Amino acid sequence: MTNAPSSSLPSDHQASLIDGKGFAAKMRQHIREDVLAFHEKHGVTPGLAVILVGNDPASEVYVRNKAVQTHHAGMRSFMHMLPENTSEAELLALIDRLNKDPEIHGILVQLPLPNGLDGRRVTNAILPEKDVDGLGEINAGRLAVGLPSLIPCTPLGCLLLLRDQLGDMKGQHAVIIGASNLVGKPMALLLLAEGCTVSIAHIHTRDTAALARQADILVVATGCRELVRGDWIKLGATVIDVGITRIKTDDGKTRLVGDVAFDEAVKVAGRITPVPGGVGPVTIACLLKNTLTAAKLQLEGNAE
Ligand code: NAD
Repeated sequence: MTNAPSSSLPSDHQASLIDGKGFAAKMRQHIREDVLAFHEKHGVTPGLAVILVGNDPASEVYVRNKAVQTHHAGMRSFMHMLPENTSEAELLALIDRLNKDPEIHGILVQLPLPNGLDGRRVTNAILPEKDVDGLGEINAGRLAVGLPSLIPCTPLGCLLLLRDQLGDMKGQHAVIIGASNLVGKPMALLLLAEGCTVSIAHIHTRDTAALARQADILVVATGCRELVRGDWIKLGATVIDVGITRIKTDDGKTRLVGDVAFDEAVKVAGRITPVPGGVGPVTIACLLKNTLTAAKLQLEGNAE
């Protein structure tokens, strides 16, 4: 079987679902084994500190979920829940303590921060070798010039899913919709390093649909629910939907939707990630992976 999209599909075609949940479970199992081996070698358990400022309920759910999964992976989790009115000086002082603490191998500050706190300054205060979100300028710069680095968890997760699905991606046209520092830009660099021809669309792109139609691999991370319609997708393309928007349903409940109109896309794409159950679980598994990588960097000087 080739990775190239076909030129026509049967009328009852359904894309195969990329099972992010199952993939993440396998990743976590491998990480757990690696954490045990690391502990046997060094007598050290990797530790992850997560800092949340303010009391945004959605962020609290994310942070607690990260803590539970960190424990399940055999690592130590340290939660720092700070009040909304925390000053930047207090936050930087905490990061400084965690930077110096040998029990902490990874530090993550949940973004966005409340008004008045400079996310860039705070992120850059984390030591590069503990920057498990990969958002500091040193890690971002190293990724840009092709040096080993801690890679932001969401694009790393998308890359691992794509490698698992497609193997060699050389020569494929990857279109990324969204150009944030968190997802779109690092995704573009990672797929460039895989040998893809990469196009990036963003809010000012003139005809995003026309560009998307050229994609063998389409990664969408805009935060605009169901932006990508079925007729934006080339037959047989691989679609990775990063977007998450929580919407209210008629029965008063809520549900998550992606940036891709799933019911339309599934009739055209070759493979597609569902929302939920696609990129989300793999992102958290990548945070665990990065924490172990960071611990290896600190104790072994490399991440192998
Ligand atoms: P962002 O707001 O920082 O960036 C959005 C990008 O999309 C920008 O580059 C903007 O120019 C572009 N964009 C917006 N509207 C567009 C349009 N109509 N056409 C073309 N481009 C458009 O967002 P982000 O932090 O990159 O996150 C994007 C989405 O991914 C959000 O829904 C977020 O919740 C989700 N997300 C999911 C995970 C996960 O684990 N699944 C992780 C991070 C972000």
